[in-house]
Amino acid sequence: MAGGWSKDGAVQDQIDASIEDAVKLARSQLPKGESLIYCEDCETEIPEARRKAIVGVRLCVNCQSELDQQQAKS
Ligand SMILES: [Zn+2]
Repeated sequence: MAGGWSKDGAVQDQIDASIEDAVKLARSQLPKGESLIYCEDCETEIPEARRKAIVGVRLCVNCQSELDQQQAKS
């Protein structure tokens, strides 16, 4: 492991960075274009704010966070 991430106060920064990375990763993996109105996985309606915030969104918040957690482990 590289140093520089274990100082006091760095843990939260690391967590924040991980979430940010996960969001960026998720966005980078999404196809550009139309957001889905209903989650591809569970068919829950995706809130309009989320569809506008993430272009080409295909999953609801719950399914996306589950996916992010799975990706974070690997
Ligand atoms: Zn879903």
